[in-house]
Amino acid sequence: MKLRFAPSPTGFLHVGGARTAIFNLLHARRYGGKMLLRIEDTDVERSRQRHAEQIVSSLEWLGIEWDEGPLFQSDRLDLYRERADWLVSKGSAYRCYCTVEELEAGRAEAETFGRQFRYSGKCRLAAEAGLQAGIGSHVIRFKVPEGPIAFSDMIRGDVQFDAAQIDDFVLLRSDGYPTYHLSVVVDDVDMEVTIVARGDDHLSNTPKHILLFQAFGAEVPRFAHLPLILGPDRKRLSKRTGAASAEEYREMGVLPEALFNFLLLLGWAPGDDRELLSREEATDIFDLGDVNKASAIFDQEKLIWMNGQYLNRMTIDEIYPRLMPFVGEHDRERVIRMLPLVHTRARTLREMAEQLQPYVGDDGEVEYSEEAVRKHIKGEDLPQRMADLLNSLEGAEPFDIATTEQRLRELSESRSLGAGKYIHPLRVALTGKSSSPPIFDVAAALGKDSTLRRLRKLIERLPALLES
Ligand code: GLU
Repeated sequence: MKLRFAPSPTGFLHVGGARTAIFNLLHARRYGGKMLLRIEDTDVERSRQRHAEQIVSSLEWLGIEWDEGPLFQSDRLDLYRERADWLVSKGSAYRCYCTVEELEAGRAEAETFGRQFRYSGKCRLAAEAGLQAGIGSHVIRFKVPEGPIAFSDMIRGDVQFDAAQIDDFVLLRSDGYPTYHLSVVVDDVDMEVTIVARGDDHLSNTPKHILLFQAFGAEVPRFAHLPLILGPDRKRLSKRTGAASAEEYREMGVLPEALFNFLLLLGWAPGDDRELLSREEATDIFDLGDVNKASAIFDQEKLIWMNGQYLNRMTIDEIYPRLMPFVGEHDRERVIRMLPLVHTRARTLREMAEQLQPYVGDDGEVEYSEEAVRKHIKGEDLPQRMADLLNSLEGAEPFDIATTEQRLRELSESRSLGAGKYIHPLRVALTGKSSSPPIFDVAAALGKDSTLRRLRKLIERLPALLES
């Protein structure tokens, strides 16, 4: 058994493509088959080396590995030409010398009469009658035979097309480049692909491909056409309804395991109510035949929720290396110490890094939010309150959650003031914000030196803050 993922490098790896890759991989792994990665870069204008590299990197990031490849179709151009010629010599294809103008005229005429354009078959007749001079610019067309084309799709069941609906399609363009139909079938034959699993948008291409496999005298592989992925508005997935590429989710701080898990459930379910499923667990039970026919809905909120679940289940040591790229320059030890504060509150690595920011920066440079200042930096007695608090925290030993809390509460009682009168400004001093994780947890995690430095800094800035 061999499956393949065959992206055209026209942009980043789309989430739909990523799901196709995942389904191919899991089916191959479940049944001990091989997985091939093939870059379909014959469309020289739109294909870019850079895109191919990005796709490969996104696949690696997602944990999708392959046994063969990446193979590049651009390395095989001579071969496609040879095979097209071979089909001509066998009488399964013919050279078509019709000019662009002729074809355009035919197309315009069809439009006028409200008919679908079909190639006139002029060169097919001429070729069959041996009337072609064989000079000049031409394409090679496939000679579509008559009759029904039926196949059993692993997902959609029995599918039937009538060859009469299929035009003599082009295999080789006049510039010598193959069309997608030719290159994809030549490759699937040469590379001995046994299962072609790809997006539903290719369904109408499949009868053409089946005819080509037959013309090459090759075995026709099995097909599995994966349902479309729609946005929550049931329209084609767009930027508006969610990021479109794996790369964008990577940049948002989504974990590859979470994205893998999420995409896996677009059109497939494990048959029980599990939603969090590791790749290994899925490998044991995945089958392309169990994929749903109906289109799948891409709900980005659910992906972010799922990512939060993955983050929750990871240890600080596991998270740290993943988080690093989002944090910028930092002190490793400080980050590890502060991470438990935000660990279960963030749903993405980026959110986590943002929440971490107040704690990993310089003690003298905590930024006070406008809201926090407005709400809590007020009252003529505030400088006195903060001086007392500083004094009392200086004596907190050990400097842990319980002791710092106890010192603050003792102080508030002795002054007959609510604890909030101390807690809220302390929060501003330590985090710059009006809300944060429990403040004594924050103080203990920051440690005595940092906490006192931050509190002194607030006291220093109070005159100016109270004035404005
Ligand atoms: N290269 C095609 C695409 O990116 C897929 C071809 C196939 O899987 O047969 O849509």
